[in-house]
Amino acid sequence: MRLGLVDAIVVGEGERTVVELARALPGPIPAGIPGVAVLKDRELHSQLRPLEKDLDALPRPDFEGLPLPGETVADYARNRPNRFYTPYYNGFPVSATRGCVNHCAYCSETAYWKRYRQRRPEAVAAEIEARHRRYQVSEFEFNDSSLNGNPGWLKEFCRLLIALDFQLRFSGYIIADQAIDGELAGLMFRAGFGHVSIGVETFAETIRSRMNKGMAAEDIFASLLTLTRAGVSVKANILIGFPGETEADFQASLEFIARGRRLSPEERGPGRLIFDAGHPLRLEPYSDLFAHPDRYGVRLEPWTLPLPDELSPLQPLLSRMLFTWRRDPDREHLEQQSARMREEARRTDFSPGFR
Ligand code: SF4
Repeated sequence: MRLGLVDAIVVGEGERTVVELARALPGPIPAGIPGVAVLKDRELHSQLRPLEKDLDALPRPDFEGLPLPGETVADYARNRPNRFYTPYYNGFPVSATRGCVNHCAYCSETAYWKRYRQRRPEAVAAEIEARHRRYQVSEFEFNDSSLNGNPGWLKEFCRLLIALDFQLRFSGYIIADQAIDGELAGLMFRAGFGHVSIGVETFAETIRSRMNKGMAAEDIFASLLTLTRAGVSVKANILIGFPGETEADFQASLEFIARGRRLSPEERGPGRLIFDAGHPLRLEPYSDLFAHPDRYGVRLEPWTLPLPDELSPLQPLLSRMLFTWRRDPDREHLEQQSARMREEARRTDFSPGFR
């Protein structure tokens, strides 16, 4: 803003703010819109907008005028490298919840959203039905971080979808949870959840505990199979390089991936189980790991971004925002581990024709 590149910044939950901002345009942006930060006399003026209690009261996105389901979506679908790894572009975006019930050490979700909120299941189902009728789309992608944060809510929502007189397809992120039982998995499959992604992140118990992930590795593996047996395909994400991770911890995850490969069709069921594995952990701002690096044996260091001359005045500001981190093992070792795990995951993904 000081360089005149940006007029205003929307801070926090943007839906209401952006509507009020748009109403003021193209005129000058008035100070005092809650959730908008502006510069006045070189001083920053901002007024926080509290998080909305009722998510259904927020304005919904308007897709009119976008080429849907026309060329843009078709282009995405053609260009994506792998239909299962990147299924998102086929799905019409929808969101039912915000935030997460967990507090994983490397994640900033709860720093942003503080608490878990859900829309009314009837409102979400009605929105989906309206989008389907208006745009002739049958595939939806949930942008939620933890759609099953409240398993009772998800069951109710699935029942509403099952009651529709047409079949839709859904995908989205859910969290590993003890409450994923045969009933919930069955309802999800009947409602149209063809596949879900789950952030397992590691099967090593010590690292799970350091990550503040509650569930035991065996229970997680069982919940993945509960879903695949019901017909829901699962993509389990596995990270490497959490601070303190040893070779034995790394091996623990590799062994579970290999176990996935050894499952018989009866053990696995009709759903597909694949591992999107070997991604080195990145440091997320506002996560516990970022806020308390000492607790995790991590050292943060400023990181200098090479900038073209005309943006060099931004350097002092960026130096307060950009960091890199030192951790063990080093980058070369991580790259080797990543390659090994990706190869193990590639060999485990063995069930074609999941759709
Ligand atoms: S990593 Fe996933 S489960 Fe953990 S807090 Fe973040 S969104 Fe929730």
